[in-house]
Amino acid sequence: MSEAALLDSVLGLPVHLMDDYISWLRSRLKQEIGTHVITLNAEMTIQAEQHTALAQAIQQAELVIPDGAGIVLYMLLRGKRIQRCPGIELAELLLESIGQTPTPYPIFFYGGAPGVAAQAAKNWQQQSPHLQIAGTEHGYLSATEVERLKQTLQKLQPRLILVGLGVPRQELWIAQNRYLCPQATWIGVGGSFDIWAGTKSRAPAWLGNNHLEWLYRLYQEPWRWRRMSALPKFAGKALVSRLTQT
Ligand code: UDP
Repeated sequence: MSEAALLDSVLGLPVHLMDDYISWLRSRLKQEIGTHVITLNAEMTIQAEQHTALAQAIQQAELVIPDGAGIVLYMLLRGKRIQRCPGIELAELLLESIGQTPTPYPIFFYGGAPGVAAQAAKNWQQQSPHLQIAGTEHGYLSATEVERLKQTLQKLQPRLILVGLGVPRQELWIAQNRYLCPQATWIGVGGSFDIWAGTKSRAPAWLGNNHLEWLYRLYQEPWRWRRMSALPKFAGKALVSRLTQT
């Protein structure tokens, strides 16, 4: 971790705080240091309590960024004002940064419904012709197709691999398969391909600025209510942890 990084913790899970994640990631890419980036939010924190493999993946990731409003509020309860860094924005900034000049960094998009990652790649390629998107694959492959994908990744050796399979599937997939491309930066990007392909939209900025992006997602995808029941649970735990200072 660079000097600017500060290691903190949220209910026992690590979170790395720094002013400039992009410079840090660019430096890792340049030095070919394998990196797993996790974008931590309240839902994931609660899931990790029951899911040992997910907790392990988070503990072992080289970079855990504070993605959700819950993490920001948790820190605020402890008197620390931190900046939220949504995973989709981190991935966008990194792609924009890489796309500024011709760079020899093959990129791979994996995940989403059939055609979505390919469309997202096409849109990025149009916007940033310098990007070298070496391949895409959708996220509903059969076991045989997954094996073929692994061989492709091993052959292509992409430097940046974005995996959008949802939480915790993407974190576990990266943790299990990062050995295939040990020099790559792997980021779990959730539904980002849907946004980049134009099949879904992000919450308006004013909702995000008021920590209410989750409300928009609930409106778009009402089936999320069950997953979102993790939010009050997280808030309760954050309060208890504040009161007992654990
Ligand atoms: N997805 C996938 N394979 C699966 C399950 C989900 O590729 O077996 C994709 C899905 O199409 C969507 C993304 O994973 O593009 C999950 O997005 P979501 O916004 O739900 O991610 P999360 O909130 O879990 O980060």
